[in-house]
Amino acid sequence: MRAEIIAIGSELLSPWRLDTNSLFVTEQLNKAGIRVWRKTIVGDRFADLRQVFSSALERAEIVICIGGLGPTQDDITREVVADVLGRRLCMNDEVLAQLEKRYARISVAMTPNNRQQAMVPEGAEVLANPNGTAPGLFLTYENHLVFLLPGPPHELKPMVTNHVMGLIRQRHLAPPLVYRHLRIASEGESKVDYLVSPVYKSYPDVETTILASGGIVDLLFYWVGQDTDERSGPVLAELTSRVREVLGESVFSERGESLEEATGALLRQRGKTVATAESCTGGLIGKLITDVPGSSAYYRGGMITYSNDSKASWLDVSREMLSQWGAVSAQVAEAMAERVRGLAGADFGLSATGIAGPEGGTPEKPVGLVYIGLADAKGSESRKLSLPGDREAVRLRTARMALDWLRRRLL
Ligand code: AMP
Ligand code: MG
Repeated sequence: MRAEIIAIGSELLSPWRLDTNSLFVTEQLNKAGIRVWRKTIVGDRFADLRQVFSSALERAEIVICIGGLGPTQDDITREVVADVLGRRLCMNDEVLAQLEKRYARISVAMTPNNRQQAMVPEGAEVLANPNGTAPGLFLTYENHLVFLLPGPPHELKPMVTNHVMGLIRQRHLAPPLVYRHLRIASEGESKVDYLVSPVYKSYPDVETTILASGGIVDLLFYWVGQDTDERSGPVLAELTSRVREVLGESVFSERGESLEEATGALLRQRGKTVATAESCTGGLIGKLITDVPGSSAYYRGGMITYSNDSKASWLDVSREMLSQWGAVSAQVAEAMAERVRGLAGADFGLSATGIAGPEGGTPEKPVGLVYIGLADAKGSESRKLSLPGDREAVRLRTARMALDWLRRRLL
């Protein structure tokens, strides 16, 4: 079965709002063995949506429309869909009663335009929306399944998991997509592809996707061959083990977990703790570590020493060292890691100091120059990084390189 997603809303065509709902919906569909063939973002204009919806129906068995179900003038999804499918829109008394109850409960007067949300195309099934006013709608049309879902993510997500996926599975029994997902840190995309493409090219039954973001490369191997049950497991296992052989320690996950989860799991396994001293990352390393629930088991805490003064007075980095080498230096990175480790009584100290830009670069110390430090009982070391990208990219890559260094130390 082919699925298409239509994200509806003029705000999604602006620089301020991103269509994130389709990512969630795609993930759920993939789990049910359904691939998304196309997705479209379209503004709140009748003619445009009509065209997009009609052409999606020509291609896909499952069409999922997101947004435009609210009470305002620009919410036109139900009208357009009723028009294309040749259905009348009828007032649904049950939905209307629920709307009235909801407004009474929150003591808000229901304006007449809110009744629009109770208009349902003939033959549509109503999908309850406990988190908002507009219910979802489900229609079948010839061999198509059509879903109209509300835009706010906290309304859409439970509706998809509680109703939409069940309705799809009733009609489409397919094994989930079979794939392997390898995650790689501290290596560039082109180098990874150069190393592994000779391997994956020799597997015609596997479709490979490679993507890179913020210093992490993801390799996805999708099974596209026949005899899924018998062959996909052994073939994908052989492929991933050959790829792992080529990439070595840079692979940090085979199950899709984040770098901070993988690093945290190793700290936990080894019974080790870490503390952080951060300058250019402004606490991002600590933030990533503590994104993982339960990280208090191995994270002792951290300091954001953003000025020379705080490096000197809180961490006791010597003023001579700061003036001789500068705050962005191997010496200072090592001192920061060592001192925070001692202060926190941790097994490891992790530090970062650098020039994230856009200002502050010099010919000797350009934007993107970063030193990360790692200290343990045996002493401290630093690494010099020259990172591409803007401020955000430099900071994220720095934090990840630091975490990945710690991860490799724990292997
Ligand atoms: P609507 O159902 O069109 O009234 O959408 C209500 C709100 O949901 C919008 O203002 C957006 O903030 C949000 N929203 C709509 N569509 C999406 C989408 N595809 N991804 C993420 N948020 C969305
Ligand atoms: Mg809208």
